[in-house]
Amino acid sequence: AADKATPWDHYSGADSDETNWHLSLLGELSAAMTHLQVWNAYQPKLDLATGRIIGAEALVRWEHPERGPIGPDDFIPLVEAHGRARDLTAHVLGQALDDALRWQELAVAGVAVNVSATLLADHEFIEMVGQRLRASDLPAHLVTIEVTESAAMDKPEQAIAALESWRRLGVNISIDDYGTGQSSLTYLQKLPATELKIDKSFVRNIEADQRNAIMVRSTIGLAHELGMKVVAEGVEDARCLAMLGDMGCDTAQGYFISKPINAEAFAALLRESAKA
Ligand code: C2E
Ligand code: CA
Ligand code: CA
Ligand code: CA
Repeated sequence: AADKATPWDHYSGADSDETNWHLSLLGELSAAMTHLQVWNAYQPKLDLATGRIIGAEALVRWEHPERGPIGPDDFIPLVEAHGRARDLTAHVLGQALDDALRWQELAVAGVAVNVSATLLADHEFIEMVGQRLRASDLPAHLVTIEVTESAAMDKPEQAIAALESWRRLGVNISIDDYGTGQSSLTYLQKLPATELKIDKSFVRNIEADQRNAIMVRSTIGLAHELGMKVVAEGVEDARCLAMLGDMGCDTAQGYFISKPINAEAFAALLRESAKA
């Protein structure tokens, strides 16, 4: 990650300054969540068969009063490394359940939340999510947890057992960044997942890139054989979307459909989509 620009790059060279900035950011996390400076953006999911919006993925944002927006890739690893993934994910999930409940007045719409690898097999956390779901009026079948393929592949037996616990809560499970983790077919068929989410690096340029097109087409076939739905992420143009439709892909996300937007803007989009 050394070649990746981060907001604290200008402190580089002085490790202790970097540590100080990390610690001060972590120290601000709780207050930032309380004051909703940490908030959920939602990226719509489009049903390719009907052309309607059927839900959204929550993507966390941190709007820092002095430093400006900080992207999830820049603070989630830090939050995870310091044992704060539970707090953050509970915050994101709580917002997601509240927002999604409001959407139901407009149309039936699901909501997906990303769950860190460190929380996948955290039984106390799973139990807490179960309590939240029981306390919410949102039906659990409208909730999806997204787990990366690499998290699901780490300690396979443990991951399968953990995903079974998640399934018992009634939620759907999506295998995120699919294609980047090289899971075997043997393993994949044992995973109690409901959806494969093809990583955007494979979806990109399927109109011109034969190898990507083959990867996407065969993943769609495989997922359907295994009784799973398929989502393609990173759809950036009309031709890509049309091609995914022809390939039988179920759902799509990407800038061509919509960038991640706030809950209110998503509700407006959902209202339009339901009318159409
Ligand atoms: P992800 O789950 O794979 O999410 C997809 C990322 O791709 C998002 O970046 C999204 O904004 C971006 N994206 C969406 N459509 C397009 C497109 O058409 N083209 C391109 N180039 N990119 C697109 P974002 O929001 O910066 O999130 C980055 C990652 O941070 C996410 O990757 C996810 O792993 C993580 N993340 C976000 N929110 C949470 C959260 O609440 N909890 C956890 N544990 N991780 C989160
Ligand atoms: Ca995701
Ligand atoms: Ca992804
Ligand atoms: Ca990703």
